[in-house]
Parts: sequence; C-alpha cells; structure tokens
Amino acid sequence: MPILFFSYTTSDTLKQYFKETNEKELLNRANKIAGNIQKGNYLKDKTKKNSFDNEVAEKSVENSARILILDNKGFVVKDSNKIEEGKLYAIPEVISALNGLDVANLRDDEEAIYATAYIEDDDSKKIGVVLLVSSFQQVNALIDNVRSKWFLVTLGICIIVACIVFFTTQVFIGPLKNILKVIKKITDGQLHQRIIVEGNDEYFQLGEAFNNMTEQLESIETSRQEFVSNVSHELKTPLSSIKVLSESILLQEEMPIEMYREFLRDINSEVDRMTNIINDLLELVKLDHKEAGLNIKETDINKMTEDIIKRLYPLAERKNIEILYENNKNMIIEGDEVKLTLALSNLVENGIKYTPEGGTVKVTVDGDHQNCFISVQDTGIGISEEEQSKVFKRFYRVDKTRDRETGGTGLGLAITHSSIMLHNGSIKINSKENEGATFIVRLPIKYSEC
Ligand code: ADP
Repeated sequence: MPILFFSYTTSDTLKQYFKETNEKELLNRANKIAGNIQKGNYLKDKTKKNSFDNEVAEKSVENSARILILDNKGFVVKDSNKIEEGKLYAIPEVISALNGLDVANLRDDEEAIYATAYIEDDDSKKIGVVLLVSSFQQVNALIDNVRSKWFLVTLGICIIVACIVFFTTQVFIGPLKNILKVIKKITDGQLHQRIIVEGNDEYFQLGEAFNNMTEQLESIETSRQEFVSNVSHELKTPLSSIKVLSESILLQEEMPIEMYREFLRDINSEVDRMTNIINDLLELVKLDHKEAGLNIKETDINKMTEDIIKRLYPLAERKNIEILYENNKNMIIEGDEVKLTLALSNLVENGIKYTPEGGTVKVTVDGDHQNCFISVQDTGIGISEEEQSKVFKRFYRVDKTRDRETGGTGLGLAITHSSIMLHNGSIKINSKENEGATFIVRLPIKYSEC
C-alpha cells in the first residue's frame, strides 16, 4: 500500500510539474508569436499574406504545435492545419485573451495544452489572438509508463512479501501445529504421547517443558492407578480374613466358646486394621487438598515433642525401649500444630515399632535463625539405602510380613512427608540396614504460602 501510494503521488507530482512547465513554455511562445505578428503588422496589412502564412507554418514546425490566429471577433484567420480558417472559435481561452488575460490550460480530455496570447496594434488595441495547441500525449504516456512500472514493482514486492510471509509462517506455525496435535491426543487420554523436539530455539524449550509436564501427568496418572489398586488390595486382605473367619464360625456347628472368642477377636483386629487404613487415607486426602489450608499458629516445637513422647511412652515401655529427648534450642515456629504432631508422632512411633526390645529412640530439637531441625534416631532394624527413597510412597513397606505383625498401614511416612511439604520443609533419612535409622526434619521458622 505505501509503495502504491508513493508511486501514485510521485507520478501525479511529475505530471503537475510537466503541466506547469509546458503551460508556461507554450504561453511564452504564444506571446512571442503575438509580438512577431504585431511587429510584422500581418493582421492588418493584407499584402503580407505570404509572409504571414510562412511565419505561421514556420513557427508551428518550430514549436511542434498547432497555431491558430484569430481576429478580435474570434474568427480563425490562420490555422497551421488549414482546417478551421474562417470559422468562429470562441473557446474560453480565446475569450480570456481577447479580454486581455493570456492563459495556458491543459485539457485532459483532449490531452492537449491550449495557450492564448492577445495581439495588439500600435495603439494597444486588441486586434486578435494567437492560439497554440500542443499535444500533452507524450507526457501522459510517460506518466502512464512510470505508473505501470511502479505497479509492476509493487506487484513483484507483494509476491515476494507474500512468499516470505507464507514460508515464515510455515516455519513458525508448523511446530505449533505439531504441539497442538499432541495436546489433542493427550486430551483424548493418550498420555504417552510426546513432542519431537529438535534445534535449540524457543520451540525446543516449549516442547521440552511440555514433554516434562506430560511426563509428570503420566506419572501422576500411574501413581493414581497404583494408589487405587493398593487401596483395594489393602482393604481386600482384612476383608478376606473376616470372610474366612466368619465362614468358619458359620460352618462349624458345635464350636467351643473359646474358639468363637478367638475368631471374633481376630475379626475385631481386622476391622481395626481396616479402620486404621481408612483413617490414614482420610488424613492423606485432607493433606492433599491444599486449599483445605493449614491452621498456621505459633507452635512450640519443644512442648509438642514432649507431649508426643509422653503419649507414646507406654508403647515404648511395653517393648522396654528407652525414649530420650534432647532439647538443644527452644523453637517456636509458624505451623499447623495438629499436622506437625501427626508427622512427628509417626516418626517416633515408627522408631519404637522398628526397634527391637531394649533399644533406644532419641528425639532432638535444634535450630538456627531460619529453620528448626527435629531428628528422630533409633537403634532399630534400619532402612537400606535402596529403600530410603521409597518409604515415603503410599502403602510402601520394606518388609510386608513384619508390618502385618506391627499393624502398620504403610501410610504413616506418606502422611509425615505430605505434612512437612505443606510447611515447605524437608525430610531425609540417614540409615543403614541393621544399624538404626535417623529421620531429620527441617521446618522453616516463618511460614510462607509458596
Ligand atoms: P507403616 O505403617 O508400615 O509403619 P510407614 O509409612 O510409617 O508405614 O513406613 C513405611 C515403611 O518404612 C515401613 O513399613 C517400614 O518398613 C519402614 N520404616 C519406617 N520407619 C522405619 C524405622 N524407623 N526403621 C526402620 N524401618 C522403618
């Protein structure tokens, strides 16, 4: 558009320039001829007819223009083309000259410039008019030529720009189309789909970020499926036991009362087990729903630890386990006391559960200006390095048979982990098999939303 606009305005300016210079030039010539006619007295002196004819013919060739000489009534006296002689030629330019105003005017319809100059006699009386008609066709043709060349240039540029735009959009939109295709497949449930990433540009980064996100989605989906199957499995085991026990009671007609009691006790403990699993699951669901929010308050970690130890003391005593408490620093942090108590209780309880009789469980509270550190150290069976990263997973147990004995649900450490993560803290394990285990919890003193 700018090029077209530019071409039209420049050609218009060019035309205007040629028009004005040609008009001026033609007017000058008409004036000169008028002066010559006056000097030669050609209009009045009939004896000079031949010289007059020659003068008109000569000047017409010289100026490449048609020359008409008119009298003061507007009748053509001489016409270099010999067509209009004797005819009235009262065109506006002639009338204007007869009124004493020489004019030059481009007539677009005829593509010609009309220039008139009046002829005076010696008494300054207007006795006639010189009319010069010069073609403007050449200039128009030139302007048209310039315009069509500009048009061709514009067309060429448009085609080149269109090609560039087309190819660049292909380059830019092509990868986006691929991404869109993969997104649609993922939306349809094909979570294994990935974007093929190559190069090192923004698309590469977008593709990589997208693939990472999809991997996360896939792993969330896998763990969701695993979780559902684990829950079903965990609940199925006690249910099967209950089924077997109750069927035994029903099928055996004359069963001793002691056996009844024994079977019912077993059923009761299986029901307890299911209740524990469901309670733990509900706890985890609550922790998963972050929007349920934490009840953040100033929490005295030392007091909280003492309370937990006091509550679990009977459990430790039953196994003749000594619980030690080392208070290195008084720590008051911003946290949800209920959820932190749950997290720490699980650690101390595990310490007691997985330590053989006569062992020790030591809880230490320490801190610096930013964090509070709580460590729970036991002299129990320990956790091999290989298992350490897995124990925080839901329903993960190192030794399934032992856990049936201890009555664990396999959810305790998952609850602890979720609760600490909600507080933007961290948890790590230092342990070797059969050499005891130490769980170190770090909790920021100031709680922040992110
Ligand atoms: P559970 O209810 O079975 O104790 P947890 O989630 O609390 O479930 O723990 C997961 C597993 O991690 C346990 O089954 C156990 O094998 C292992 N574990 C947890 N704490 C300890 C510990 N202090 N010493 C040794 N093993 C532990």
